[in-house]
Amino acid sequence: MSFFLIQMNFEGKDIISIKDFSKKEINYILEYAKEMVLYAKGEKYKGILKGKVLSSLFFEPSTRTRLSFESAMNRLGGRSIGFADPSATSQKKGESLADTIRMADAYSDLIVMRHPQEGAARLAAEFADAPVLNAGDGAGHHPTQCLLDLFTILTEKKRIGKNKIALIGDLKYGRTVHSLAYALSMYKAELTFVSPATLKMPKEVVDECIELGVEPTQTSSIDKVVKDADVLYVTRIQRERFPDAEEYNRVVGSYKINNELLQNAKEKLIIMHPLPRVTEIDPEVDATPHALYFKQAFNGVPVRMALLSLVSGGKL
Ligand code: ASP
Repeated sequence: MSFFLIQMNFEGKDIISIKDFSKKEINYILEYAKEMVLYAKGEKYKGILKGKVLSSLFFEPSTRTRLSFESAMNRLGGRSIGFADPSATSQKKGESLADTIRMADAYSDLIVMRHPQEGAARLAAEFADAPVLNAGDGAGHHPTQCLLDLFTILTEKKRIGKNKIALIGDLKYGRTVHSLAYALSMYKAELTFVSPATLKMPKEVVDECIELGVEPTQTSSIDKVVKDADVLYVTRIQRERFPDAEEYNRVVGSYKINNELLQNAKEKLIIMHPLPRVTEIDPEVDATPHALYFKQAFNGVPVRMALLSLVSGGKL
């Protein structure tokens, strides 16, 4: 690796929650990910993961996380096996998560897992010798998304802290914002949480931000927030986590980012979204210089290449 940071060793480490990392470690991963960009585009190649096999276990739907992990593995010379639909596995016959993980551990060197239950990734890590990378556990955490979100802010804004960042939408059930609020507080970003009253950021997340020295502003109105923001991080209302369809119908469509709303925005405002978007960002915004969400999604590849390489002890 050509950059100046002191080498850190992540070999064998599970990636379960962003809270397991220090700011120094996060900075290191982000710098390593910068080195991976040309490899992620296929413009350079080094088979760091040649001969390694990744188990890609998706118990919940995914487009970007699964494909970018698999792309990352392939781009570094490794291979992946796995499933995108648990109904085609022995889970259907009643197999426990522990046994499925034992098998993935026997067949591969690395395990990426998405699961609807909070805490499932931490549990999986107990049954596997191979590193487990949490690709989302229910409404809990999404650490690799968080790292690619930080990477996007860092590369676009040249720093993470000192930005005014608004997290918007379903802050109750959205796992990406739970991880991101914590991480942004480590960098002392100025945070505003915008959500319908019923979908506010959980108190324990707000308390953690405060413990890290950041007092987030909480509001349900987006209009005033747009003018001052450096980053709008928009999220989808997480339909699948609502116990009651009526409750979902009441809040769906609460926010819509469109060109009219952006009229008074800062020139350098960036709009991010973990995707998929449903109705919360009008497609007309895609053509504006504010729209960063597709680039953000690409950033998943270099960041996941960095992680896969670091936890398997490979070096650029
Ligand atoms: N793709 C993100 C996640 O898995 C965001 C979303 O689904 O709304 O959490």
